[in-house]
Amino acid sequence: MDIVKDFILNFFLIFTCFFILIVLKFRLGQVSKLALFLVASLAVLFCITFPVRLDEDFIVDLRMIPIVAVGLYGGWPILASLMLVKVGYRFWWGGLGAYASLVIAIVMILLISYISYKFQSLSPRNRIWLSALIGIPVTILELLIVMFVFQHSIPLTIFISKLVLQTIGIFFFVLTWEMVITYKGLHERVLRTEKMEIVSHLASSFSHEVRNPMTTVKGFLQLMTDPKIDREKMNRYVSIAINEIDRAESIIKEYLTFTKPDSSENKTIDGRDLLETSVEVIRPLANASSISIILKNNHFIFEGNKQRMQQVLINLFKNAIEAMQSGGTLTVVAVTQTKWVKIIIEDTGIGMTREQINRLGEPFFSTKGDLGTGLGMMVVYHIIESMGGKIEVDSQVGKGTKFTLIIPSVGSTHQTDVDTTIISI
Ligand code: ADP
Ligand code: MG
Repeated sequence: MDIVKDFILNFFLIFTCFFILIVLKFRLGQVSKLALFLVASLAVLFCITFPVRLDEDFIVDLRMIPIVAVGLYGGWPILASLMLVKVGYRFWWGGLGAYASLVIAIVMILLISYISYKFQSLSPRNRIWLSALIGIPVTILELLIVMFVFQHSIPLTIFISKLVLQTIGIFFFVLTWEMVITYKGLHERVLRTEKMEIVSHLASSFSHEVRNPMTTVKGFLQLMTDPKIDREKMNRYVSIAINEIDRAESIIKEYLTFTKPDSSENKTIDGRDLLETSVEVIRPLANASSISIILKNNHFIFEGNKQRMQQVLINLFKNAIEAMQSGGTLTVVAVTQTKWVKIIIEDTGIGMTREQINRLGEPFFSTKGDLGTGLGMMVVYHIIESMGGKIEVDSQVGKGTKFTLIIPSVGSTHQTDVDTTIISI
């Protein structure tokens, strides 16, 4: 009964050490050879300290489980170092068995180094198969050395118990270790795929964002082909077109530096000016669809990135205009409160179902077929949320949609003179 108890204790101590290795592998991804050696040494020391005692001279334990298992992965340097620990500690305990330990160590270093060399070039499946078999010759050889070189008998129960437990132990370690390696590899592949997906999302949204200013510039160039256009109007169109090209240029710059934190670019934005220029930019598109724009502007300031805010507004205006194919009204209202600034963008377009509202901001969600990219709202949500703001959506199919951007304001802003501009076509 004592034999069973001692073997179980050995087994438990070894697997506690293996558990440490598995946790390290999960946490760090890679376990260094030094860590492998230290943890396996600990297991060897435990085994020798709590063995099955045969007599004064000889002890039997399961120390070969950590030595073989770790030796297979680490090769001869780890194996030799582990053997040094094992033999050194065994000599410290004393008895004739220490010499047996030395002889076994020399034979095992040669044998397992050779197997380890082959083992590392095998497929994971074959490594598991090999590990299921390797415990048998290793244990038999170990016990035969004690029995024949040192002329010491070993009871059959101990012989069989050690053979079975050592074989199972080595197999179990290799099986678990291979499973952990496969899982880690899969996990890393998933992370890489996710990264690639983000890169491709960025590339698509990048071209989408650059297309907006291009469309505006194209619209103004078309207007300029009118031979009756006066000089003043011409100059205004040219300056807007140049501004738009500048915007496209900065969008390109912005996306190239997308991954870098950009809090340094945050500045105090003049909200009134922002709304005016954004409305101006989108006007040609509204005109083309017989849409009137009502702007109820206000003095307000807030903290943010001006380019990005303009991108948000233009994306929302564009969606509103696209929802009113047969004309309508786009109303833009700025409401200021002590802590918040609200920008309300309301259209009288086709509206959205509850399901569509829930999917807003989801990459590539679009009901416009080839005409849409389904990225505009993703960018809008991303920018507003990164400013610490939020978006409320209210929409009714056939009636229209109201987007309310709620953004933290700077300092004390208060409702002052509201100026209303009605731009009719
Ligand atoms: P896209 O405009 O390229 O389709 P967006 O991300 O800008 O992509 O918008 C996603 C979808 O949200 C649109 O296809 C449309 O169905 C819906 N949507 C957004 N804004 C409005 C709106 N103002 N009125 C109706 N539907 C809208
Ligand atoms: Mg859009």
